[in-house]
Amino acid sequence: MTQQKPQRKEPASTGAILVINCGSSSVKFSLIKPLSGETLLSGLAECLHTPDAKIIVKLNGEKQTYKLPEPFNHQTALSVLVEQLQQLGLVKDITAIGHRVVHGGEQYSQPTLITEDVEQAISQLAKLAPLHNPANLIGIKACQQAFENLPQVAVFDTAFHQSMPEKAYIYGLPYSLYKAHGIRRYGFHGTSHYFVAKQAAEQLNKPLEQCNLISAHLGNGCSVTVIKNGESVDTSMGMTPGEGVIMGTRCGDLDTGIIFHLVENLGYSIGDVDKLVNKESGLLGVSGLSNDGRTLENAMLEDNHAQATLALTIFCYRIAKTIASYSASLTQLDGLIFTGGIGENSNWVRTEIVKQLALLNFSLDEEKNKATRFGASGNIATKDSRACWVIATNEEWVIAEQSAQLLTNLVK
Ligand code: ADP
Repeated sequence: MTQQKPQRKEPASTGAILVINCGSSSVKFSLIKPLSGETLLSGLAECLHTPDAKIIVKLNGEKQTYKLPEPFNHQTALSVLVEQLQQLGLVKDITAIGHRVVHGGEQYSQPTLITEDVEQAISQLAKLAPLHNPANLIGIKACQQAFENLPQVAVFDTAFHQSMPEKAYIYGLPYSLYKAHGIRRYGFHGTSHYFVAKQAAEQLNKPLEQCNLISAHLGNGCSVTVIKNGESVDTSMGMTPGEGVIMGTRCGDLDTGIIFHLVENLGYSIGDVDKLVNKESGLLGVSGLSNDGRTLENAMLEDNHAQATLALTIFCYRIAKTIASYSASLTQLDGLIFTGGIGENSNWVRTEIVKQLALLNFSLDEEKNKATRFGASGNIATKDSRACWVIATNEEWVIAEQSAQLLTNLVK
């Protein structure tokens, strides 16, 4: 299956796309010109369902915060957003709404126009993504009310990974569980891996279809993806975002025997285990201090905090090991990409990871590495090394581009 590639050529819809990323208690939004990636307005509604509900609107580099009136829900947040857009005269420019939808299962490897059937499918896929898909659906329904006449497009986090071969996505479980219940690896952060791979292809000055890359998206959630001839062929997250490397609060890969031990001998309920592995583990669990990369780096570098050092050391080793394991998927490698809040900003993490990849012929130019932070992008490798880029991700732009492209294709 091939992933639709956003083209930077003139799409029929030359207006702006409102990109919506809806969580259970938040809505992130950006109004984006799909051709240039220019962000006209962006922001976040947060603390929904509580009296602290507010909306922060960023325009021309300035932030305005408004308290939300009752009911403190997604619909209210979107109504306030629509009012703002109307006051700014921006509503008329919006040609479509592009929604980030986390789980598209095997059905969706492409951006998709949202119809009743698609909504039903997203709802059914909630059993694979119980935290995310229901929230995405709330956003879709609220936008249908707020923007009655506009097309709504779903762009799935799993879509880019639908090109993975069976050997990468089938678990070592009875095959019948895959056939009957869809228990397989899907992968996430697809939109981000795709965006940075496309940027790297531009750096290499060749079509993405000819590029072989490994990209490490390191934020609160972390995943590593290997891209062969422009397509994802393996990724570290699995049926849920819990698999793979250690993350802010998730433990990543775990011996399944530990779960039985926790339940049978240590009095944990299944709910307790869920909370433990998803919310209390990872950088937070090992350090006992924080899930935040900055806090841990400061504690390690300034206070010699032993647990923070251990957490970051394990974090980097697991990522390096995953990257190295992907040499099994490729016969050529053009370079490595770091993205996400930690990948884009932490030169310490990048150094620690890359120094464990010398066998793959990676080495960093420390001057360039230190200089490439806070939104800067570039190749931070030495002259003799394979390329190693820091690339600021922009999932919203991909969602805007793919939504515009889909609508262009539909009217052709
Ligand atoms: P999300 O996965 O929620 O989108 P981000 O990609 O924004 O998250 O990444 C958040 C992570 O990036 C946090 O752990 C944060 O501490 C980390 N981060 C941001 N800036 C820095 C920095 N300068 N040094 C180290 N870590 C950083």
